[in-house]
Amino acid sequence: MSTIFSKIINKEIPADIVFETDTILAFKDVNPQAPVHILIIPKVEIPKVTDIIVKEHDGLLGEMIDAANKLAKEMGIAEDGFRLVFNCGDKGGQEVYHLHLHLLGGRQMKWPPG
Ligand code: AMP
Repeated sequence: MSTIFSKIINKEIPADIVFETDTILAFKDVNPQAPVHILIIPKVEIPKVTDIIVKEHDGLLGEMIDAANKLAKEMGIAEDGFRLVFNCGDKGGQEVYHLHLHLLGGRQMKWPPG
């Protein structure tokens, strides 16, 4: 089922897009949890981590990691460190059921997360 992220992909609603290719999109989280908080998503609709088929999606996942590294460098957080997060399912804290990789940085992260 389509989510609000499909509307962002289709430019039906605005987002602060920071990177885009034919296959992935990255935009600033509307409710940032750190000075840098970017969501990196595939354009294809994959609801959650458990729907990933590695043989089919490994290229896409690699592109998402490449984008995270590129954006971390551009945002000046690559050297100090940052966090990449996939929330999966209700107890994983997932709210939007369109796969997304959170790129968080610009402050000290804590462990364990809440
Ligand atoms: P998750 O809890 O892992 O599903 O994360 C969903 C994220 O999407 C949250 O951090 C929200 O703040 C963010 N979000 C929801 N709607 C939008 C939107 N329209 N533009 C940007 N970020 C959004």
